[in-house]
Amino acid sequence: MICYNFSMKYILALDQGTTSSRAIVFGGDGQIISKAQLEFGQIYPTPGWVEHSPKDILGTCMAVAAEALARAGLSAADIAAIGITNQRETTLVWDRATGEPVSNAIVWQCRRTADFCRKLVDEGFSERIYNKTGLVPDAYFSATKIKWILDNVEGVRARAERGELCFGTVDTYLLFQLSKGKIFATDYTNASRTMLFNIHTLDWDRELLRLFDIPESMLPEVHPSIYDFGKAEWGVLSGAEICGVAGDQQAALFGQLCTRKGDIKNTYGTGCFLLMNTGDKPVKSRNGLITTLGASADGKPCYVLEGSVFVGGAVVQWLRDGLKLISSAEESERCAKSVQDSGGVYVVPAFTGLGAPYWDPFARGTVTGITRGTTSAHIVRAALESIAFQVCDIVSAMEKDSGMKITSLAVDGGASANNFLMQFQADILSCEAVRPEISETTALGAAYLAGLGCGYWKSVEEIRKNRRTERVFTPKMSETARIKLLGDWQTAVRRARLK
Ligand code: ADP
Repeated sequence: MICYNFSMKYILALDQGTTSSRAIVFGGDGQIISKAQLEFGQIYPTPGWVEHSPKDILGTCMAVAAEALARAGLSAADIAAIGITNQRETTLVWDRATGEPVSNAIVWQCRRTADFCRKLVDEGFSERIYNKTGLVPDAYFSATKIKWILDNVEGVRARAERGELCFGTVDTYLLFQLSKGKIFATDYTNASRTMLFNIHTLDWDRELLRLFDIPESMLPEVHPSIYDFGKAEWGVLSGAEICGVAGDQQAALFGQLCTRKGDIKNTYGTGCFLLMNTGDKPVKSRNGLITTLGASADGKPCYVLEGSVFVGGAVVQWLRDGLKLISSAEESERCAKSVQDSGGVYVVPAFTGLGAPYWDPFARGTVTGITRGTTSAHIVRAALESIAFQVCDIVSAMEKDSGMKITSLAVDGGASANNFLMQFQADILSCEAVRPEISETTALGAAYLAGLGCGYWKSVEEIRKNRRTERVFTPKMSETARIKLLGDWQTAVRRARLK
């Protein structure tokens, strides 16, 4: 590790997301110095399939890095370290010698291997896979996507068997390209989303590699999220060290400084992603949650319980674009506050079924409790409340699985800007909701990892001292009211289901 005077240096976070790439330069106090963002195209070859062009992934990352540096008047020599965070599970295969991809990237959302996954479940592989990887067999994860490329792109399997090809999630692809092929590595958080990585032994699993028919030579080295991955050798970034890597949700958990057992964060985006740090021991879920690896400050494995809500902020988009009850997402707050309560209306936004803890693909969206007095404001309010109720269902499952009671929820993501939603969330969970000043928690997490990795920051405690909370929402609802609302929500959920 290089040690020199960091007082005039900065950390660069590269955040390669599903719809855009971002680069953010952070200063020593954790504040944003400059940022740049570029969207790129989604490729839908056929319904349910989603791809990205590897050229776009790389090109937008390089462009935003150059722009963020230029905006701050900086060069690679001013960067103490680079941190990378990325859309998870998205799968790339490329030539080891030339770096040339053999196909487009298959994106995490892509359902092309859903039938194969169903077959795995029918053949009874679920428990074996869960026990090793913490995951349920699903098309989201990389393993079946790699198999698809090997089985369907001409000539690729033979090349892979000759050891000529590399597999990587987006982090690995960026590391490889940025280092001109010198770094072929990933971190625990990304490896744990492939469905090939044993989260207990921290190794690629030979039995799973056989099951998915994937040659071991394709796989990158796996390191902790804080690690001296090596030097960038690309354009404006040449010479900068890469010292932190984590998948986006785990980076956000770290960016929220949820580094202690029992710490939990929720990101309110299109869907919601809840992650709870369960410490150095994996927690087995009995409620359909995933067990995965988080980023840790000390390089030791840190385990996480993860659950997601399919329709989070998306219900607000539906109010705006589908029902046309509001003209902007922000307006939902004013509209919800214009009535005293939801007037007994419940919206269950099970547009594509219900996820954890119900796992009912046949449930459908339902609005209950409508009377002659119901207005659009009641429906808007009930829709916002539905986001909080669904989050509450997952938090309850996490509490049951882990045996821990949560007292504080760290919040971020687009819909966390909604003060009504945050207050209702605190009320219905009967715990604080804490909104940080810097909402870019994913990039911030990657920056923290890189900064700790190169010694820019000495400890998590030093970082914690600089951290500012924007607002804390404390629960105000009576316990009687809370229990009544939760009971009525359960009744509405039952009505959204067939049985
Ligand atoms: P993603 O990363 O999934 O694209 P973002 O974190 O950018 O999501 O958040 C966008 C989502 O948040 C959208 O679904 C939008 O409807 C919702 N949203 C944004 N602002 C608000 C708001 N003030 N109130 C409620 N929902 C909001």
